[in-house]
Amino acid sequence: MNIHEYQAKAILNEFGVPVPRGKLALSVDEAVAAMDQLGGKIWVVKAQIHAGGRGKAGGVRLCRSAAEVKAAAEDLLGSVLVTKQTGEAGKQVNRLYVEEGLDIESEFYLSLLVDRETEKVAFVVSPAGGMDIEEVAATTPEKILTLAVAGDQVSESESRTIATFLGLEGMQVEACATLLAKLHRTFCDKDGSMLELNPLIVTGDGDLVALDAKFVADSNALYRHPEIVDLRDLDEEDPREIEASQFGLNYIALDGHIGCMVNGAGLAMATMDIIQLKGDKPANFLDVGGGVTVDAVCEAFKLLFSDNHVKAVLVNIFGGIVRCDVIAQGLLEAIETHPMNVPVVMRLVGTNEEEGRKLVKDAGLDVRWANDLDQAAEFAVAAAKGL
Ligand code: ADP
Ligand code: MG
Repeated sequence: MNIHEYQAKAILNEFGVPVPRGKLALSVDEAVAAMDQLGGKIWVVKAQIHAGGRGKAGGVRLCRSAAEVKAAAEDLLGSVLVTKQTGEAGKQVNRLYVEEGLDIESEFYLSLLVDRETEKVAFVVSPAGGMDIEEVAATTPEKILTLAVAGDQVSESESRTIATFLGLEGMQVEACATLLAKLHRTFCDKDGSMLELNPLIVTGDGDLVALDAKFVADSNALYRHPEIVDLRDLDEEDPREIEASQFGLNYIALDGHIGCMVNGAGLAMATMDIIQLKGDKPANFLDVGGGVTVDAVCEAFKLLFSDNHVKAVLVNIFGGIVRCDVIAQGLLEAIETHPMNVPVVMRLVGTNEEEGRKLVKDAGLDVRWANDLDQAAEFAVAAAKGL
């Protein structure tokens, strides 16, 4: 689960990690009031959306007067920000964070994540901060260090390795060790799956400060973090994904043309791969899961039929615990309110496949039947092209 920058900074602050002082503002008046309360001479007005790359897209404004803060807030609130991470549609800005403007001496990249290879929490650091880390990884991978924390805490030698790699000297080596320990504790205590500071800065006064913060909570651990669940901002999430999650469906919207309904995450991935191999792209990932009900299948079909990016639907069910007749019944229920406005290709095999096919055929639905996944993907890609 994602949260906003200002929320991530509040969590960091709780754990003693230095962050710039700032205030949330939901209106232009609140932005100007926030600036007054913060005091100082330079402020930064930052659009709060669940995506990075805001600086380059004009979502981070440096201001030197109340008039500039007001103008920035007026401009940003309600506007749609398109960044490298939002996709073409962009994201609407509903919240602003007004921060004290800090004097930046140097910028670093630092993140924490769960390294699946070593099964440890790992730091990823780079002296090339404030930049697109994927680009750094592609062009100058030697500027990135990944260090898995061996024990329960960051050891002295581990923090020294990181500080040296970042080129820190003198007092900052000690400050870095303290910071790393606090970040590690934040990440573990809050069950993070990712914590990213890009940039982590050294100020003109020589202090290490988290200038930007992104925190992703491990969704599987949310049951023990009601305080993080409270931070969820539904405006930032895809309404289709919210709807699907209410029915226990694993649904992720993508940008292709073939709507997929599959059981099992592995089969769903394979289905998406084969669609690509046949020359199109999936419009979604959808795993209906094992114990799926007719109502949930119905909901899933409605999601696919009401998505105007979807040009064809591919149903790929390998019935085990999932019964093919449940899938067929869900389809019949869905078309009562959402007509089958795109071609549907079905591959139904396994438990109750005969019953499932019979239900669809008896209803007189114009469905194209496929014998295997290869053929199903071929049919779906052709159907999406109107063939
Ligand atoms: P994003 O990663 O979405 O572009 P950041 O929070 O990293 O957003 O901000 C982009 C850039 O704006 C930073 O690299 C930094 O140069 C500048 N910036 C952000 N916050 C501040 C601040 N409080 N004081 C001074 N400069 C800032
Ligand atoms: Mg950033």
